[in-house]
Amino acid sequence: MTLSLKNASKTYPDGTRALLPSNIEIETGEIVSLLGPSGCGKTTLLRIIAGLETPDDGTEVWFDKDNVTQLPVEKRKVGMVFQSYALFPNMSVSTNIAYGLKMQKRPRAEIEQRVEEVLTLCRLNPLANRAITALSGGQRQRVALARAFAPRPRLLLLDEPLSALDAALRDSLRDELSDLLRRLGITAIFVTHDQNEAMAIADRVAVMSEGRIEQIGSPEDLYRNAGSPFVAAFVGNAMCLGKVVQGNTLRLTGGELSLPDDAGGRGVYVRAEDVCIAEDGPLIGKVESVTFLGTHYRVGLSGVTDSTLYSLHSGLSAPRHGDEVKLRIAPEALMLLAEDKTYL
Ligand code: ATP
Repeated sequence: MTLSLKNASKTYPDGTRALLPSNIEIETGEIVSLLGPSGCGKTTLLRIIAGLETPDDGTEVWFDKDNVTQLPVEKRKVGMVFQSYALFPNMSVSTNIAYGLKMQKRPRAEIEQRVEEVLTLCRLNPLANRAITALSGGQRQRVALARAFAPRPRLLLLDEPLSALDAALRDSLRDELSDLLRRLGITAIFVTHDQNEAMAIADRVAVMSEGRIEQIGSPEDLYRNAGSPFVAAFVGNAMCLGKVVQGNTLRLTGGELSLPDDAGGRGVYVRAEDVCIAEDGPLIGKVESVTFLGTHYRVGLSGVTDSTLYSLHSGLSAPRHGDEVKLRIAPEALMLLAEDKTYL
């Protein structure tokens, strides 16, 4: 199913403009993540698509060729999975999965077959007769997914479905979910504030800020071609080096850098993996923190810019606290980004 939102906006009765007029088109089978900090309007956008929120006048929600803007939630036939599992605790796994199908008054044989199907799909067969209260958090979230898949919805909406789980479980369920959605070819929208989760699951990520979609693109595209400082900082934690540029040279406290292009008033940004500790580097900084992260060290450096600059260092050993080190940043790793939002 294709989903198309035209001019979608929401103003709450107290005047909060949770969503400013936004457009988005999602293809059949596409998985799109809505990514952004708390309060940026992700849930509001999702609830408008589901039919749980009345949007402002002028909003249009299209499912394929149907304008569903006025259609109530139960008629939209959308699957939903939330952070809180919203399962019936005393019922068994199977009964929970069958619940939606029973409400739709499907024939008994069909219900049994569908339940069996999703139990297998979500690898829940051994737990079919267990009560929800006797399951772990990860298992409960799997049941919630299975229940959403059972009616074969044309669109699946997921609101932070993994955030209540611990880190290891979150990663494995994330990969499973991504695989399942693709195998079933379900069009899905996945809300998260975790950039890694968004990038791992989605075909395209819509980065939201203050009620607006700032940029939408493939994970690679957003990472490599961030269109604004907000997107660069939110996706991949880009750091601002500075703005004081003369021609193609950026002057910093710790030295000078050549830019690939005339910055023309734009800010210069870089990611920690592109800040290299190198003996022949043109910048000088002082090590103020060293954190060992397994595959690499994260080194905090003072004296290069006005704030701490971080470098990801993948050697077998790292410099020590207080050392003075030289740094190199390849010109092509520098991002020149305008503060204003004229690119929209
Ligand atoms: P989170 O990640 O914290 O869930 P979010 O990006 O999903 O945040 P929304 O829940 O969509 O954000 O909220 C967007 C804005 O609308 C916020 O400023 C929020 O305070 C506000 N808001 C949400 N619901 C209401 C409401 N019923 N009345 C007034 N304001 C609301």
